[in-house]
Amino acid sequence: MMSQMTNPSAIAREFVQTGRCASCPIIDMHGHLGPIGEIYLPAAPVEKMRRALLRAEVRKIVCSPHQALFSHPDGGNRLMQETIDRYPDTFLGYWAVNPNYPEAVRRAGKDISQARGFVGFKCLPDYHAHPITGAGYAPALEVANERRMLVLVHTWGGSGFDSPQMLAEVAQRYPNATFLMGHSGYGDWEAAVRAAHDLPNVYLELTAVYVAHDFGNQPGGSGTPLPFLSCLHVNGIIEHMVERASSGKIVFGTDMPWYSPHYAAGAVLFARITEEDRRNILYRTAEKLLARSGGA
Ligand SMILES: [Zn+2]
Repeated sequence: MMSQMTNPSAIAREFVQTGRCASCPIIDMHGHLGPIGEIYLPAAPVEKMRRALLRAEVRKIVCSPHQALFSHPDGGNRLMQETIDRYPDTFLGYWAVNPNYPEAVRRAGKDISQARGFVGFKCLPDYHAHPITGAGYAPALEVANERRMLVLVHTWGGSGFDSPQMLAEVAQRYPNATFLMGHSGYGDWEAAVRAAHDLPNVYLELTAVYVAHDFGNQPGGSGTPLPFLSCLHVNGIIEHMVERASSGKIVFGTDMPWYSPHYAAGAVLFARITEEDRRNILYRTAEKLLARSGGA
C-alpha cells in the first residue's frame, strides 16, 4: 500500500502511516469551541475535541467559542477562559468582539488585560453585519495595535463587511496589530494573496480554503456574490499562496469542531511545496506569531 504513495514528503508519509508526525506538530490558529444550536458536531464537547487534536499532533489551538460569537460575548469569553485555565498547554483564546454589543467592545481592552491565555481578538463581520473598517470595531483594534496583538478576522471575497480589500485597509490603519485573514478572503484569492504579500502585518489563514463552499443560497453576509460561484474550488491554491506570498505568511486553521484537523492537514501535506514550507504552514509561522503575542 505505502509503496504506491508517490508523494516524496517524509512528513506526509509519517502522517499517512501513523496519523501524525512527531517532528512536525500542528498549531491551529482558527478554532471554535462548544455546541452551536442544534447542529451535530461530534468534536464539540471539549474532551472529544482534545482527543481529535492529539490524534493529529495538534499541540495548540487558538479558539473563540460559538457562544461568544452568536450571543452576548461575555458568557462565551468566560467559557474560553475556563477552558484555557483547565488546559493551558493546549488552548489559547481570541477575545470575541461584536459591535452589536458596543459596551462590551469598549471594555474589551480592560477585560483582555485581566484574562489569561488570550492572544488577541476575533472579529466576525459578515455574521455581525458590521464592516471591519467601521467604528464599532475601533476600540478593540486600537488595543490590538497598541499591544501588538493578533486579530483573526473572518474574510470573504466580495463581502461588503470583510472583503480582503477592507481587511487591507484596516491593516494599514493599525500597522502594529497582526491580522489573520480567516478563510483567506475565500473566493477572491488574488486580493487576499496580494494583501499578505504587500502588508507585513497581514497573514493568510487556511480554514476552508481547500474545500468547496456554496453559500449561494444565502442572501447576504458570507453569501458569495455570483462572480465567485463559478470558481469555488481551486486546485493548487496552497501552492499559489506559497509562491506569491510565501509560507512564512500562511497559518493553518480548521474551524474545529466544524472540520477535521486530518482533512486540513492533508491539503498541506499533499500540496506540491517543500518540507520547509509545510513546517512553516503547519506550525512555525504560528509559533512566531504566538511568541510575539504572549501565547508561546
Ligand atoms: Zn471560524
